Amino acid sequence: MRRPLVCGNWKMHNDLRGSLSLVKSLLLRLDPVWLDKVDVAVAPVFLHLSPVGKLLEGTPILLCAQDVFWEREGAFTGEVSPYMLRDVGCSLCIVGHSERRSYFGETDEGVNRKVKALISEGITPIICVGETLEEREAGRVFDVVGSQLDGALKNVECCTGNEFVIAYEPVWAIGTGRVATPEEAQEVHSFIRSRLEAMYGGVAREVRILYGGSVKPDNFASLISQEDIDGALVGGASLKSDAFSEIVKIAALEGC
Ligand code: PEP
Repeated sequence: MRRPLVCGNWKMHNDLRGSLSLVKSLLLRLDPVWLDKVDVAVAPVFLHLSPVGKLLEGTPILLCAQDVFWEREGAFTGEVSPYMLRDVGCSLCIVGHSERRSYFGETDEGVNRKVKALISEGITPIICVGETLEEREAGRVFDVVGSQLDGALKNVECCTGNEFVIAYEPVWAIGTGRVATPEEAQEVHSFIRSRLEAMYGGVAREVRILYGGSVKPDNFASLISQEDIDGALVGGASLKSDAFSEIVKIAALEGC
């Protein structure tokens, strides 16, 4: 039985006041009954992790970073390490987001180094994979997603299934309002699960696989009710506490 996870990726949005008021509003809206059934996380910009984390102390809501560098410390101007994320209370970190791959040159090898560094610091990576529209139209979805998975998980152990989370985010669905159909998403989630099974055996059934790409309250129920969809990585809709809370509620009612 996989526990659903809903993570809000706030990207480069909000000033400090905006981040804090979004958390306060979420704390008022999220019903403890839903939080008994669903893991919920928010990912503000690096600068806001610490103050947002302070507001979340004593609550079940988890703190997530949007990126990381793999070294522990040193002369790496502008970077933040897993140990520093842990120090401010992060328990999750997004890696390999398509925006980082396309705008900042993130490679599968870099994702792999980040994944290993995070796991060794006790932080769970949320590893994003997904194809572009051209790749989908060229019939290359499984090639692309398969090789992103192989690259990210090279020499990564998986004993319990909780070491990492996968997020399938078709690039053509991110921030576009064009969501994958539940069948399109399930097809890739099921492929991801089989690939994990080939790597790790039966424990792959414990790994959570999130869907991301224009998730909204009105399209999420049919996605989360698919067999291999275990939650969502939510961008735009996570910036509104009413929409995000509704998505969490749907995960609690319809989730795995
Ligand atoms: C994301 O950036 O991870 C994402 C899924 O964004 P959106 O929900 O806005 O498509």
